[in-house]
Amino acid sequence: MSVHWVVVYRAANSLEAHCLKGLLESDNISVKLTGENLSSAAGELPANVVEVGLWVDASDVAQATVILQHYEQQQLGEEWQCRHCNEINEAQFEVCWQCGCDPSESE
Ligand SMILES: [Zn+2]
Repeated sequence: MSVHWVVVYRAANSLEAHCLKGLLESDNISVKLTGENLSSAAGELPANVVEVGLWVDASDVAQATVILQHYEQQQLGEEWQCRHCNEINEAQFEVCWQCGCDPSESE
């Protein structure tokens, strides 16, 4: 059984890459990052200079794409208001940063 790696995303920096890697791995998708070695080899380059490619197995591409699209929508999404404490949260927060409540939970 051979693994056929496909690049599914190019992160702007290694911080984003690791965030997405964790996101995919939490869904049991193996992720390989490329580009990182360049920045660590250069040593003094800021982490945000080098694009980092996210690679997944060909069989995981469809699933990974859905997760990444969801992630991007959250980045571009709208603010939401917490119904417990009325705090306005930015779209990328999955739970209220103020009180920690999960907006998708039904009461
Ligand atoms: Zn809240």
